[in-house]
Amino acid sequence: VCMEVIRSAEYKPDDQIAMMYIRDINDEYLKQLDKIIRHAKDAFASVTVNISDGSCIMANSRIASLELKDVNEPLDSYIERISQSIPQREVRTQYRKVFCVDNLRECLTQGKDMIQWECPVYAAKGISLRMIRTTVEMVRNVSYDRLEALIYFSDITENYFSEQIPHMLYRKNFDRIEIIDGQRDCVRLDHPGIFAMEMVLAEEISYSGYVTEVMKKFVPDDEKSVYEKCVRLDTIRKELQEKDRYSFSVHQFNKKGEKCLKNYTFFYLNKFFDIIVATVEDITEKFEQDILTGGYNRQGFIRHVERILKESEDRTGYAVVFFDIKNFKAVNELFGTEIGDMMLRKVYEDVRKSELKPLVSAREDADHFICLVERKNLDLDMLTGMCQKKLTRGGKTLHLSVKCGIFMLEKKKMSVNGMIDRAKIAQRYITDEFVQSYKIYDSSMKNTYIDKATLAGELEEGIEQGQFKVYFQPVVDAMTGKIASAESLIRWFHPKKGFISPGVFIPALEKSGHISELDLYVLDSVNEFQKKRYQSDKITVPVSTNLSWMDFYDETIMNWLEKKCADASMPSGLCRMEITETSYAAIEADRNATLEALREAGILLLLDDFGSGYSSFGMLQNYNFDIMKIDMSFVRQIETNTKTRSIIRFIIEMAHTMEIKIIAEGAETKEQVEFLRDNGCDYIQGYYFYKPMPEEEFVKLLDAGR
Ligand code: C2E
Ligand code: MG
Ligand code: MG
Repeated sequence: VCMEVIRSAEYKPDDQIAMMYIRDINDEYLKQLDKIIRHAKDAFASVTVNISDGSCIMANSRIASLELKDVNEPLDSYIERISQSIPQREVRTQYRKVFCVDNLRECLTQGKDMIQWECPVYAAKGISLRMIRTTVEMVRNVSYDRLEALIYFSDITENYFSEQIPHMLYRKNFDRIEIIDGQRDCVRLDHPGIFAMEMVLAEEISYSGYVTEVMKKFVPDDEKSVYEKCVRLDTIRKELQEKDRYSFSVHQFNKKGEKCLKNYTFFYLNKFFDIIVATVEDITEKFEQDILTGGYNRQGFIRHVERILKESEDRTGYAVVFFDIKNFKAVNELFGTEIGDMMLRKVYEDVRKSELKPLVSAREDADHFICLVERKNLDLDMLTGMCQKKLTRGGKTLHLSVKCGIFMLEKKKMSVNGMIDRAKIAQRYITDEFVQSYKIYDSSMKNTYIDKATLAGELEEGIEQGQFKVYFQPVVDAMTGKIASAESLIRWFHPKKGFISPGVFIPALEKSGHISELDLYVLDSVNEFQKKRYQSDKITVPVSTNLSWMDFYDETIMNWLEKKCADASMPSGLCRMEITETSYAAIEADRNATLEALREAGILLLLDDFGSGYSSFGMLQNYNFDIMKIDMSFVRQIETNTKTRSIIRFIIEMAHTMEIKIIAEGAETKEQVEFLRDNGCDYIQGYYFYKPMPEEEFVKLLDAGR
């Protein structure tokens, strides 16, 4: 005799159903029935069916829609009716096929007495979906000689989701996990690792309310609208239609009020149920890291400097130092990018570990580094030492020089960006890194700072208004000291910014593609000057003009040169062209024809800045020149470096065997001049003799027969 209390939907102490039954424990049928009933214990509804005649005997359900319409309702019509709550049509049809009387009989003849099927079902019309498992267990009732079945339904939604939770959600480094129940517009916030699905499905916090709150409290003003758009349910669903994951990043303030970068990633835990998971990760550090060096990037630098300055009372105790490796492109080309990368890492480490004791150091971009130092550690002599580097690899040696700009922080507040920019501006003012490899920013520099965007416009206006002046620097015969020729050098006297050095605006013009307009102006001016002197029978010397590699791709300049070749009104020897090594490297071989034509017409070609680039000897091999200008960096070191002296001797000798004349650039001392002269250098250009000068002064010198 057994007595069992039957679970009722709601527990009411005075209203419980109990069942008492007597059973023959030797009866196989009852044994099986007992087992089935135990299986069905957690079901929320069950139906007993007579399979032999295909009718339902009785139903036991907490849900009205699962009750029988009338006693003996045919199973097929019952299944047809209840399957209507299955939202997917194919699943619905399949469901009917599986649970129809014919199929159940068929299964039993094959010895299968149990069928299980799981699918999403609307719990109530239009309301949330649940994952329902339908089970049929069949048994032969010997007393009545009929087949019977118990069909029962269990809600397995929670378990179902728990099984689907991806492993990644247990990763510990998420800030939080948001599980969004899209159907009900609810959200639950979880910490990674403690993930309770049944609580998610019971959560009542409104998702839209939650995101509005986050937006108001934590998202910076200028990103509010972006955030709002990105986290909207319809946006997320739309994005997830196309891909598995949808991510975006937004800044948020943390508890300390610091601005952090958060990365949101959304994906479906279950698309059908519209359960979306959002993981939120703090990627501030990651985003601020420079992958190459492992240090900070610009963003990281800015945030850390801001933090330090916020806590310090006196900003003037600090300086921002900006480093730029000169000619870094050459390292990549000569040694390959791998070594180039290694070099960048080394420079970064050198800076970081240097005696400057930087508080924050970073690679700003490419070959630019920045650091914040305390002024007391800013030893300028030491900085100079740091700026000359030697790289030797596989027998090849390369000298790298680093130029650095310094900005001393002022009392008045300024953005870190502003500080970096100023240090950078100062660095651009270094005209000769061998003389001084650093420059300290002063406010007059800002005025001459050239904004590339406005430069093109200013250039045209500047030429029209005569702001550009061609200066002349005499080149003397090394033996006699008499003026043998001159170089034309452009000068810009800006009405507001004052004098701007060509070292500043020429690279900018090259970058913006406007250099040729200026070079044309210089070519014209020099030509006019020479013509005037020649036609009025005054003393003339050849004057060289600097050409940029870009000029070789400029039609007007090419035409000008062509015309010049054919111009017989003046001796062609009065005009010369200077082209730097680096420019040569940028000119394609087919442009060489133009250069050859110039030479044939008697216009001498000068190889400018010889030795400053990295393919000096290649240049000599591939192109023809008449005169080579030894780069200033060699001349500078005549007194201090024995090797340099040997190199200069060698260059002169080599040039002479190729019938190339030599001009040494940038001689400033008597020793330099004497060394050059004693070693057979043909001509010298440098402050020791003359600085670049305006036309009037140059004319006076020429007229005086100097
Ligand atoms: P560069 O062609 O090598 O010109 C020589 C530079 O060395 C000039 O600088 C000159 O003033 C400087 N210099 C000459 N002797 C000495 C000396 O003894 N000591 C020192 N410290 N410097 C000396 P500048 O005028 O500033 O010109 C810089 C560069 O700008 C030139 O180098 C040239 O590459 C470019 N440049 C100048 N004018 C033009 C131009 O009209 N067109 C083009 N495309 N480039 C130009
Ligand atoms: Mg030159
Ligand atoms: Mg030069």
